[in-house]
Amino acid sequence: TPAPVTVLGLGLMGTALARAFLKAGHPTTVWNRTATKAGPLVAEGARLAPTLGDALEAGGVTIVCLTDYPAVRELLGDAGLEGTTLVNLTSGDSAQARETAVWAEKRGARYLDGAIMAIPSSIGTDEAAILLSGPRPDFDLGALGAVSHLGEDPGLASLYDVAGLAMMWSILNAWLQGTAMLKTAGVDAATYAVFARQIAVGVAGWLPGYAEQVDRGSFPAEVSALETDARAMAHLVEESEALGVDAGLPKLIKAMADRAIAAGHGGEQYPVLIREFERAGE
Ligand code: NDP
Repeated sequence: TPAPVTVLGLGLMGTALARAFLKAGHPTTVWNRTATKAGPLVAEGARLAPTLGDALEAGGVTIVCLTDYPAVRELLGDAGLEGTTLVNLTSGDSAQARETAVWAEKRGARYLDGAIMAIPSSIGTDEAAILLSGPRPDFDLGALGAVSHLGEDPGLASLYDVAGLAMMWSILNAWLQGTAMLKTAGVDAATYAVFARQIAVGVAGWLPGYAEQVDRGSFPAEVSALETDARAMAHLVEESEALGVDAGLPKLIKAMADRAIAAGHGGEQYPVLIREFERAGE
């Protein structure tokens, strides 16, 4: 039978988490600063803990999902955490996750950090990616979605989460760039989206091979050289400008390639640009 769980924080996400646990048959204790928000969940079978202390003593895993990390620290600052297993699914960055792990462990908790890459309505389905990092879990959060444990470093879940945002916004901006360009020729967004999707899927297929080059630190031009790509980048900049479409993103792309070419990497393959991304701290 599913193990008992406790959910602290019943905002849009916390409520979805508690509901998914209930649906999967977990005995579920809930607590929220504003207790009235627990009403619907109690009607669905959740137990409302009268106090935070009571919620933390309910046993099993305690899930925390609040607005941000400062809210988590504020809420649990005076609470007894000795012997609890805390899974913090609040969004934040990796430094906050690592600091909070140290903070919680000092106070006797076993701490896992997590991130949710999903909207509340997809919680409980395979579409919901639940990322965990920290000690290897000996409990099952499968009721929430597709759970992956990324490693012992508690910052990893937040890092993957934020890296995923870079992927998401880059793809969306690239698509909008092309959409704006095609619209000038009377092509509607839906028509271009079919073509854009093919490109995105095709490029995604290059990632494993390109990742091997990055991991080896060697970038032979097997498909094309960066200086060939840079000529196409110039077309993208010029075409955007000629059409009156914002050229900021194309210029950024080209500027990075130009820097790598100036540093002598024009004959190497695209992923050599990893060095430009890594340079920011130098
Ligand atoms: P909501 O604004 O709906 O809920 C916020 C929750 O935090 C409420 O339960 C609120 O309590 C509680 N809270 C805030 N400050 C405090 C505090 N100082 N002490 C105690 N409780 C506090 O946010 P969501 O549920 O949407 O988001 C929660 C987390 O989940 C965020 O980190 C968000 O980034 C993440 N997330 C959300 C997604 C979404 O689509 N909604 C998607 C992916 C991640 P009260 O009810 O009393 O105000």
